[in-house]
Amino acid sequence: MRDPLYIAGAGIGGLTAAIALARRSRPVTVLERAPSLEPVGSGLQISPNAFHVLRDLGLEEPLRRLAVAPEAIKILSGRSGAAIAEVPLGRTAEARYGAPYLVIHRGDLQRVLLDAAGATPDITLRLGTRVRDAQQDDDAVRLDLETDEAGDHARAAALIGADGVWSTVRRRILGLRQAVFSGRTAYRAVLPIDAVPQRWRTVTGLWLGPDAHVVHYPVSAGRQFNIVALVKEDWDAETWSTPADPQALKARFSGWAAEVRELLALPQDWLKWALCGMDPGTTWVHGRIGLLGDAAHAMLPFAAQGAGMSIEDAEALARQLEAHRDDPARALAAYQHERQDRAERVLRLARANDRVYHLAGPLAVGRDMVMRALSGERLLARLDWLYGWRPPQAR
Ligand SMILES: Cc1cc2nc3c(=O)[nH]c(=O)nc-3n(C[C@H](O)[C@H](O)[C@H](O)COP(=O)(O)OP(=O)(O)OC[C@H]3O[C@@H](n4cnc5c(N)ncnc54)[C@H](O)[C@@H]3O)c2cc1C
Repeated sequence: MRDPLYIAGAGIGGLTAAIALARRSRPVTVLERAPSLEPVGSGLQISPNAFHVLRDLGLEEPLRRLAVAPEAIKILSGRSGAAIAEVPLGRTAEARYGAPYLVIHRGDLQRVLLDAAGATPDITLRLGTRVRDAQQDDDAVRLDLETDEAGDHARAAALIGADGVWSTVRRRILGLRQAVFSGRTAYRAVLPIDAVPQRWRTVTGLWLGPDAHVVHYPVSAGRQFNIVALVKEDWDAETWSTPADPQALKARFSGWAAEVRELLALPQDWLKWALCGMDPGTTWVHGRIGLLGDAAHAMLPFAAQGAGMSIEDAEALARQLEAHRDDPARALAAYQHERQDRAERVLRLARANDRVYHLAGPLAVGRDMVMRALSGERLLARLDWLYGWRPPQAR
């Protein structure tokens, strides 16, 4: 009997890959180190490129039910509060790209994927199981696993490391350079929509200022509101759940416009995350072992494509493993060849946004003038290469 495929990590990319593989009749085991998958995290964005993949997997209905489709992104000056530009989304994006642009709570997206995976007999999900090590030969990958009670072993046709930004498969098994701290920190909060002033409840906002920006939008079908403040800050920790001091945040934004300060004063509880990134150009694949999503190309969230790229990766991986059914190493090489340029182009876009969003003084004035001069549609059109992507069968 053919060995199953193994995926390390039941995050966004790992679960999408498992569903896409199972739909091609490939049995797959997903190993997740967390003992249970609680709805942790805050908001993330599903742009049309990623939505096409999720729609092809039959997930359109639950996603539309749980997500919000913003009408536009309002870009505002963090200093003065003045509007700079409005990038149309809503019906404009859907007509332009054939799929909606959605904002969603990460927990809701993961739940939709988990439900779909749970309803698929070809997927085995092992929670509380961490990939510790692996060796490969010409025939298989031998996995060394760790559960809360004991160690365990498994034999796989291939191992996919979808184990996120601090990937063990990347660092320990493939011996690649790990993601490095970027000197940027995200402060995140999710609060009930009732706590938010009426005029902001449905707004997707992007406030630009010196060395920081703020993003907010509704999630959970409009019942909750997600706020993220992204700042230059020298801090580092490998966790998604460090409590942050609201007073420190208040002090950091003291010179900003009253409206954004009011928004930042709303949440009682903040978490902070150290943002990491990788340099382009490293390999993602060695023989029967490959990387996917953040494990392959962790990027700053400033293009809002961390989830999107992992979802695109998942589709390509499943397609290549299907095309080269009896040769996983060849499939993985083809997958990297197909994906790497695009993912790294997005990674560079996120870095460019880091510079542009955080300008100060005359350079910021120039940026705002350019954005005001361009129509919202033209600002959107500059990202056609990103949002206009479709999986091959849907093209
Ligand atoms: C708990 C959590 C909360 C997040 N919240 C947000 C958010 O609110 N907004 C946002 O933009 N991004 C968030 N992210 C990051 C975002 O999910 C990713 O940038 C993006 O979706 C790419 O996903 P991925 O599949 O590559 O990895 P992730 O979605 O990060 O998933 C990686 C998974 O691998 C598991 N794992 C790690 N090591 C091992 C191991 N050795 N063996 C087995 N399993 C392992 C992790 O527990 C995790 O479930 C969060 C990530 C995590 C893990």
